[in-house]
Amino acid sequence: YSAPDRLFKIIFVGNSSVGKTSFLQRFCEDHFSAGTSATVGIDYCVKTVPMDNSQVALQLWDTAGQERYRSITKQFFRKADGVIVMYDITAKDTFTAVKQWLVSIEEATGENIPVLLLGNKTDNEKEREVPYGLGEHLAKEYSLIFYECSACSGHNTREPVLHLARILKEQEDKVKEKTVQLQQDSKKKSCCARL
Ligand code: GDP
Repeated sequence: YSAPDRLFKIIFVGNSSVGKTSFLQRFCEDHFSAGTSATVGIDYCVKTVPMDNSQVALQLWDTAGQERYRSITKQFFRKADGVIVMYDITAKDTFTAVKQWLVSIEEATGENIPVLLLGNKTDNEKEREVPYGLGEHLAKEYSLIFYECSACSGHNTREPVLHLARILKEQEDKVKEKTVQLQQDSKKKSCCARL
């Protein structure tokens, strides 16, 4: 085990009761407790995951989905490296709300940060209201990473977050490479200037 050499801040949004808190509990502590009450305020958990030859720390921020907390959420978006938008596959209105969440993210961050779209509660297939194809289509339209999952059964609770983390790491690696390249270029220039 080695200390994490980078940390990414990921914000979790979506309407109330889609399962954000349950998903985080599953991801960070690997357990599910039915009947968790709707989130009030904001809480976070940190999970360190191995990636390539290093350790990446993921700081996952839970937010309340209620409209009255939107302003808090907007503030939090500002320093986010990535965002997870969750809906409930058994509640169509939570899927309809995804577009509004995407608008809020874009307004607050002003740039293209990686977004993961998650359709939760696949264990409750018989009450499904949102077909898989609809989620997939929306994700394609807005260039989002897309998975369906179940915080309850544990299905797809790790893979989607690791996928997002990998994209964040690759993005950061590219920026680092560019910086090194620029430094080398400017060193060469100053060296030539002296000659
Ligand atoms: P939040 O308001 O988005 O944080 O949602 P919660 O995590 O508080 O979950 C709301 C309700 O949905 C709770 O009763 C959970 O037990 C339930 N729930 C969360 N995830 C799942 C899931 O994957 N499957 C099922 N069947 N219920 C879930």
